[in-house]
Amino acid sequence: MRIKVGFGFDVHQLKDNHPFVVGGVNLEHHKGAFGHSDADVLLHAICDALLGAANLRDIGFHFKNTDPQWKGISSLVLLKETVKLLKEKKFEIGNIDAMLCLEAPKINPHIPQMQENIAAAIGISVDDISIKATTNETMGFIGREEGVVAYAVCLIEKI
Ligand SMILES: [Zn+2]
Repeated sequence: MRIKVGFGFDVHQLKDNHPFVVGGVNLEHHKGAFGHSDADVLLHAICDALLGAANLRDIGFHFKNTDPQWKGISSLVLLKETVKLLKEKKFEIGNIDAMLCLEAPKINPHIPQMQENIAAAIGISVDDISIKATTNETMGFIGREEGVVAYAVCLIEKI
């Protein structure tokens, strides 16, 4: 099949006084996501959606969280590396639709910048990158601001 869909999910713990990078944007907040790279939950979900669509396993398979090469690295670099893997398999990326689930801070004002960062890393139009955000209505670990979650789907085409 020439056209393929992919799905990705990611979750990170939130810790006090930690940087909070989402979609390549540094958010001003009293908490931030903790992880081996910059813990960009949105970009990790998008990488997994892209890898999944191309049947290329998952982000942990390519970028091991024990590898010093990826420690503290910008996930925009991981996204670019992911796109390279898809290009090697002769896939072109159509569009991405993503959903962020977090209680705070407000994501809306940052969405245009996130779209630009992602579009530039992938090499497609900002119009093909959709980012949405919701709270978890104060329920569960997201509601308690213990963690942040992202989901993404994408469409790719064999060229
Ligand atoms: Zn992650």
